[in-house]
Amino acid sequence: MAKHIARKRFGQNFLADDKIIEQIIKTIAAKKNDNILEIGAGQGALTLPLLLRLERLNVIEIDRDLVKLLNSFKHKNLTVHQADVLKFDLSKIPAPMRIVGNLPYNISSPILLHFLAHRDKIIDMTFMLQKQVVERITAKNGSKIYGRLSVILQAFFEMEMVFTVPPEAFSPAPKVDSAIIYLKPLKKPLAKNIYLLQKIVKAAFSKRRKTLRNCLKSLLIQEQTSIELSQRAEMLSVADFVKLTNDYEKTL
Ligand code: SAM
Repeated sequence: MAKHIARKRFGQNFLADDKIIEQIIKTIAAKKNDNILEIGAGQGALTLPLLLRLERLNVIEIDRDLVKLLNSFKHKNLTVHQADVLKFDLSKIPAPMRIVGNLPYNISSPILLHFLAHRDKIIDMTFMLQKQVVERITAKNGSKIYGRLSVILQAFFEMEMVFTVPPEAFSPAPKVDSAIIYLKPLKKPLAKNIYLLQKIVKAAFSKRRKTLRNCLKSLLIQEQTSIELSQRAEMLSVADFVKLTNDYEKTL
């Protein structure tokens, strides 16, 4: 098969460092019976070592040329789904599942939010992302990089940045550092109403330099909550945001 030329529009940066690949495989720690779904299998850098450990593996890949390549492995335990992960019907895969992948960085936030909506089917997720995005997701309140994605994801997942990966580990090399993040749905999610939490968080961070009173004025006023609205959004913990959302819900 002709050598594949990486497609930028699909965020194709293929893992090319055996040590890093081994480290990722160790982090995933797949057990024979695990039900794993890999996103963006590419040329199989993670797929092939995973197949050595698994009785079955489902992968989603959007690029038809790479799907051909993956199918040419003719591995009996591998099922390749040619699809856009954001449109893929997850009910095709038995639940619960573990999800892994070296994600296309251009759509990593939509992918995370997509799986947030399907968290009840997920055991855990191990992803390679842009390091900056991992830092944003795991940031705590009080930090300049704490934002919408940090609050929304931390309200539903426990998470950990596992290790960082330099650009040279990929071919072609991305312009940015990367990192592995592990996410696991919280048994008791902090928030109940995801839609309202998203609404509050979006409004709260819409103008980072303004106070919450200003950002949230069309939603709720100080008299309706014990959260001090003279603060800026970045000062509120995830639990504070949940409280704010619950107080907002009471006004509806
Ligand atoms: N897993 C391979 C590796 O580590 O070398 C490839 C990783 S590469 C960063 C991302 C992969 O996701 C590419 O193979 C790309 O074609 C695929 N991809 C991009 N957008 C996608 C989408 N919307 N749905 C499914 N796969 C996608």
